[in-house]
Amino acid sequence: MQEKPTGAEIRQDFIDFFVEHGHTFVPSSSLVPGGDSTLLFTNAGMVQFKDVFLGTDKRPYTRAVNAQKCLRVSGKHNDLDQVGRDNTHHTFFEMLGNWSFGNYYKKEAITWAWQLLTEVWNLPKDRLWATYFKDELDEIPEDREAAEIWLAQPGFDPDHLLPFGRKENFWEMADTGPCGPDTEIHFDRGPEYCEKSDDPDHICQINGDCERFLEIWNNVFIQYNRLSETELVPLEKTHVDTGMGFERIVSILQDVPSNYKTDLFMPLIKRVQELTGHSDEVRETNLTPYRVIADHARATAFLIADGVVPGNIGRNYICRMLVRRAARFGMKLDLNEPFMAKVAKVVIDNYGDFYSELKRNEKAILDSLTREEEQFQKTVSAGLEQLDELLAGIKKKGDEILDGGATFELYATHGLPLEITQDIAEEQGLEVDSVGFSQAMEAHRLASGAGKGFGEMGSEDVEVYTKLTKELQDSGKLDTAGVTYTPYQAIKDSVEILVLIKNGKTTRTVEVGDTVEVLLPKTWFYVESGGQVSDTGQIVSADGKDWIIRVTEMRKPAASVIVHVGEVVQGQLEKGDLALVQVDMERRTKIMRNHTATHLLHAALHKVLGGHARQAGSLVAPDRLRFDFNHPEPMTREEILAVEAEVNHAILANYPLHIEEKPLQKAIDEGAMALFGEKYEAEVRTISIGDEERLSYELCGGTHVDETGDIGLFLITYEGSIASGVRRIEAVTGWRAYQLARERMNILHEVNHFLGTAPAETVQKIKNMEDSLHAAEKEIEKLRTQLVAGAFDEQLDEIEEIEGIPVLKMILLDADMDALRGMADKFRQKYETGVVVLASQQDAKPILIAALTEDLVQRGLHAGELVKKVSSIVGGGGGGRPTLAQAGGKDASKMSEALDQVAVYIRDNLK
Ligand SMILES: [Zn+2]
Ligand SMILES: [Zn+2]
Repeated sequence: MQEKPTGAEIRQDFIDFFVEHGHTFVPSSSLVPGGDSTLLFTNAGMVQFKDVFLGTDKRPYTRAVNAQKCLRVSGKHNDLDQVGRDNTHHTFFEMLGNWSFGNYYKKEAITWAWQLLTEVWNLPKDRLWATYFKDELDEIPEDREAAEIWLAQPGFDPDHLLPFGRKENFWEMADTGPCGPDTEIHFDRGPEYCEKSDDPDHICQINGDCERFLEIWNNVFIQYNRLSETELVPLEKTHVDTGMGFERIVSILQDVPSNYKTDLFMPLIKRVQELTGHSDEVRETNLTPYRVIADHARATAFLIADGVVPGNIGRNYICRMLVRRAARFGMKLDLNEPFMAKVAKVVIDNYGDFYSELKRNEKAILDSLTREEEQFQKTVSAGLEQLDELLAGIKKKGDEILDGGATFELYATHGLPLEITQDIAEEQGLEVDSVGFSQAMEAHRLASGAGKGFGEMGSEDVEVYTKLTKELQDSGKLDTAGVTYTPYQAIKDSVEILVLIKNGKTTRTVEVGDTVEVLLPKTWFYVESGGQVSDTGQIVSADGKDWIIRVTEMRKPAASVIVHVGEVVQGQLEKGDLALVQVDMERRTKIMRNHTATHLLHAALHKVLGGHARQAGSLVAPDRLRFDFNHPEPMTREEILAVEAEVNHAILANYPLHIEEKPLQKAIDEGAMALFGEKYEAEVRTISIGDEERLSYELCGGTHVDETGDIGLFLITYEGSIASGVRRIEAVTGWRAYQLARERMNILHEVNHFLGTAPAETVQKIKNMEDSLHAAEKEIEKLRTQLVAGAFDEQLDEIEEIEGIPVLKMILLDADMDALRGMADKFRQKYETGVVVLASQQDAKPILIAALTEDLVQRGLHAGELVKKVSSIVGGGGGGRPTLAQAGGKDASKMSEALDQVAVYIRDNLK
């Protein structure tokens, strides 16, 4: 091979090759799968096309090519354990794929694969192998078609074609649904790549267990629909779904023995090496930490770019875990200061041209990483210490498993994620009860009032609805694209009730009091999406039968299936009845004001705080809007007011809103802001606000006002933190904003009325009142001291004698210790010999002071012992010098009883 191609070139080669062959380039979807709550992260190239294969999503193209960001770090495909320990496993990886949706099939797919590998990338033909499907149970027909196509490829060695069974060469999406045979392409790296050559029983082979033969490309031919375990029916339209592991093909084309040696990873590893100052030799003996850091830096940079910042649950937990796990491996390399941002910077530089979201979010990525590492460092050493103790205890007892509850405690109190605890336990030959950990975490989350965990979100009735819609589509009652969704149009026509579901079962009729799910061929109700809540309203009879369903909720049980959920509040209806849809327009109008205001707020935050203040979530409801965004610190009062003013400026300018549909790529190229977690179609709806100069430009499927002036007024009601690096703003608009302003003005009015001031003077008036209150308090304090002093002076003249010496014991109200000390001094100035014990209260607790003259010390008395005896009665203690001592106590009600001890003490001790 001549000049080695770079990873970026290889990716582009793949895309260009298929674009030249009539494919549409489809940008990678977010790592957060849109519209699929059952999946934590996008974990394969086909995730964004799943609904196309299921027939519930339609695209304007039938040939596609993509490079998809994927993350496998939890669930079934979890290789975290392996990451860093071998040459090929990663958390984050890219998947290259070419796709045919009912367009070309096996012949083109195999021919193009062969051409790309041998003519574009010049891989030696004698090193390439192919496998095809041959059922070991002999139930599904052998894929002779694919085999024959392989044999017809120029220069393909017929001996390099091998049949394999179901495990290797039959692909299924799920227990039922689309499926089909596949053909895999393997590359022979040569005997020198076999790491098991010392093992006499080892044979190098395709689908074997050494690194000589690598599978590089899987072409799946979807041609069946599986109805049950034993029932396969041919599909009307056949599809091609291919997947090529990008890191692996790069390692082959760059002729390096490990994915980590490619230019996808080496710059990251070299950056870590610069930070550690290691020589290449030392680096090579610490392979695992270097690789884990490089892998996790890639994963977390891409995650944060897609809006998944480190946090406590779900996806955010995964991001946190990866940062912390990398930091822990960094400690093995003596990297004890935050370093991830430095490595992530290399990720951004190397990948940012293709994945522009990295560049756009550079600041957010770097800041989040450093903040997370700093937070981790605060607690990690205590956590590691405690873990060591726990593990030592387990070994001592002869156990092998660390309890899940204890593991969760380590996370909850010391921020040690399960995965780190597992790493450390494993290093010591022990295990962790991860199921127990998940249970403890779930219990904690439920106890703290949070919602359901990811693991529990079901796809309950996808199949029921998919089946129902299929039938309706076949009978022509429902469009082939599913329920027609027109929340942006005025309601005109009546529609037929296609399906009624009660208690999870389809039914013919429903009546007053029934909770029901209604499927119509078309709906005008907005379905919750992009933060905007669903519409509510009514479905009423359109043929005089006088029934009414109050719709309270909208559901999307499967792609392109929209269901109205509500209660029959009048009459009785049946399937087939004609209905008229009535959206609650007053409520919708309020929602629209808040939605458009959200866009203005987003733009204002960018202007005032900077481009890093990206949307991280939102809620658009009728009564308020909530907007979460990335920003490292609390907003100042000035910033909050500046943002609020910006939005109101835009409202008063009464800008028109331009709503357009256009190709996704075009919108992105024009600078439209896309939101993470949203699944975008090839044609997207864009909302731009402003005149010649655009104020805001976003991809958005929400409903909006026509002109910004329709919003009326915008008031921020709250700014606070919701997670590390994520702030939340709450605001109100329109009538609600007016009401809020009116309420506050009414309060001010009452205050002014009470104070007898004009609004502008209110603050000064209150300040003045506060000043005079302070002055009055001081005066009271002074008088009180004088009063106490006066009482003492009076008493000073009338003292008792015990055993012939002058004794003064007295309870004074409202005297502090200083005052008591001053009075004790006064006593000693007046009497050459004598004992004084004074008690008072502070914060409802007794305080005591005892003093006596020097001569009495010679005669056996001690102020410290005296005060101890006295204060013991009030439940306290104290001490001090022989001539002066003080004490406190608990029970002020016994002060007088306590003072009786003075005489007792003197009689007992005086010599
Ligand atoms: Zn081998
Ligand atoms: Zn929007």
